[in-house]
Formats: sequence, C-alpha cells, structure tokens
Amino acid sequence: MQRIIFATGNAGKIREIKMILENLKVNGEAAEVISMKEAGILVEVEEDGKSFVENAVIKAKAVAKEAQGAIVMADDSGLEIDYLNKEPGIYSARYMGENTSYHVKNKKLIERLLGVPEEKRSARFVCAIACVLPDGRVLTEEAAVEGRIGHEERGENGFGYDPIFMIPAYGKSTAELSEAEKNEISHRGRALRAMRVQLENLSEVRDEKTDGIRGSFYENTDCQ
Ligand code: IMP
Repeated sequence: MQRIIFATGNAGKIREIKMILENLKVNGEAAEVISMKEAGILVEVEEDGKSFVENAVIKAKAVAKEAQGAIVMADDSGLEIDYLNKEPGIYSARYMGENTSYHVKNKKLIERLLGVPEEKRSARFVCAIACVLPDGRVLTEEAAVEGRIGHEERGENGFGYDPIFMIPAYGKSTAELSEAEKNEISHRGRALRAMRVQLENLSEVRDEKTDGIRGSFYENTDCQ
C-alpha cells in the first residue's frame, strides 16, 4: 500500500481529498490517503511563499522531511477579487486576522465592493496542490473556479468565503451548493483530479535512499 500523507489539519479537506483520490493506484500499487495527524506528524510551517504554488510546495516539503517512504501532498488556496487587485489572494486565511470570523471578513469585502457593477465583481477561488515523491520529485497543479462577489451572504454550506462567492451559471453561492456539487466544480476538486492523473501516469516512484536508477522520470521544473 502506497501511503499519501496530506499536509492539513482540516477534516473537511481530508474528506474531500479521500473521496477524489479513492481507488488511486500509483505504480500499480493501491494508495491510501491519510492525514498528518493519522501519520503522527506535527509540523508548523511558515507559509512565506509569493504564490499559491510556492506555499503548497513549502508545506509539502516540510512534511516530507518527516514522512519516510510516503508521498506527501499539500494544498494552498484562496480567493482573488479582481477589483481589489486580487486581494485577499494568498493572504485569504490571514485577511483581517486569522481569528476574525468569516462573517466579519465577508461583510468587509462586500462593503469594499459597494456600488461596483456586476461585470467588475469577478473573482476566483484558486487552489494549488504540491506533491513530494519519496525520490524527491515535486509535482504541482493549480486550478481555479471563476465567479463573482455577491451583494450579501448566501447559504449555510461550505466555509470561509463561500457565502459571498456566486457562481453565475448556477445563480447560487458556493455556500448554497451541496458538498458533492461544489467538489465537482471547485478549484480544489479540479486541482486534485489533475494531480490524480499525474500520479496515475508516473513512470516510477522509489525511495531515493534505496537505489540509484534514474529512468524516465516526470520532471516538473516549475518550482523546485
Ligand atoms: P488554506 O488553503 O487552508 O491556507 O486556506 C486559505 C483560505 O482561503 C481559507 O481559509 C479560506 O479563507 C479561503 N478558501 C479557500 N478555499 C475556499 C473555499 O472553497 N471556500 C471558501 N473559502 C476558501
């Protein structure tokens, strides 16, 4: 069994990731996703990258140091609002302070867009996924879901900025979608499915300490 440790403490994310990576095989071997907690790993990581991808790679590499033989996966995500020069962006979790409620953050963002016409309220949720393989290779994916900032909070599902993120084609906020509906279109769902494809098509996964064969490895040079 190939273990994939997902570097998050967020139970909702783990549930979604387990669903999307169900029945995944890496190198013909069945893979199981476990959380950092389940793997007994506790690492504090300073996310000081300048992009979602950089932050995901920083997290995955930090956990990989503790994860003998396992694949480590990490994500970084956030909301980009075009009218606000892509704020809060990589600072989405820290916007107005980590401990400020999302009700307050959402109200503030709506206020900052007061009077801004519909066509200028464009925004997207972005998610980067990084995977560090036991042989040190780093794979990355980034995906987004496009939407618009609403005029009020709507819906009870999801978390964070979901109540103000409207998907025009649905006429609903992402907090009004069911978990399954959101996973299908979400930034995280898309990035994870793309990462699944990369993992399914890997040439070989091996521990760098055990042998020196260098074959036709997938090499992602974006962010090493
Ligand atoms: P992180 O990827 O766990 O660092 O989270 C980044 C922050 O982006 C979250 O705390 C939320 O504020 C926001 N965010 C990311 N994905 C979503 C989403 O699907 N819905 C609502 N907010 C999100």
